[in-house]
Amino acid sequence: MTNSDEHSETDIYSHARERMLREHLRERGITDARVLHAMRSVPREEFVTPDNKRYAYNDCALPIDCQQTISQPYTVAFMCQAAQLTGSEKVLEIGCGSGYGAAVLSLLAREVHTIERIPELAEQARVKLDRLGYNNVHVYTDDGTLGVPQAAPFDAIIVTAGAKELPQPYVDQLNEGGRIIIPIGGEYTGQTMCRFTLRQGLLDEENLGGFAFVPLIGEFGWDR
Ligand code: SAM
Repeated sequence: MTNSDEHSETDIYSHARERMLREHLRERGITDARVLHAMRSVPREEFVTPDNKRYAYNDCALPIDCQQTISQPYTVAFMCQAAQLTGSEKVLEIGCGSGYGAAVLSLLAREVHTIERIPELAEQARVKLDRLGYNNVHVYTDDGTLGVPQAAPFDAIIVTAGAKELPQPYVDQLNEGGRIIIPIGGEYTGQTMCRFTLRQGLLDEENLGGFAFVPLIGEFGWDR
């Protein structure tokens, strides 16, 4: 590849990223300026498989290794916006997958802890996040339905796989005033995005609309 090819490739991605912001995010209700800035800053093309780079800014989930997916950009932005982050928070992401969501979160929060049950994906994400300089992200390999007790408590917990119910460890590992953003529903049918906010020891639940995710598998999730 020549220098001018590299330049035009960079231009193509930044143009596609601007179009994503305009058509897929702002037009669909993503208004948080910090979230829009993070979505503009993270190169999604680095987190998809080489054959899917050209589709990196299409508003859809894409396959990654191990039969998993990188979430749709709108969904990532929607969950980040719903978490109401100001920059000072310690955040837990369940389902690291490609590492893309963790990279976006790393620009929105002080510290990000992300956990993935498939070791191969966790290792790929760790290497990638490190190479791209997302230094406030800690990657774990384990059953994320148990949370990450050694790093708790968290100000926000973002679950990027579909749960059958709210895992109790997330409530136990949440700070007062903290938010849990989690899709809950059937294993192979759509889920409802829920926001739980802990206020004076009680959970306030809001329904944020319908989404579709791969299942959250583990002790407090679906069986495998
Ligand atoms: N945040 C990811 C990204 O930006 O690429 C999207 C992840 S994908 C939609 C959901 C991920 O959750 C999959 O990689 C899957 O292996 C993972 N997962 C499912 N159950 C899990 C569990 N109990 N603990 C940790 N990860 C889990």
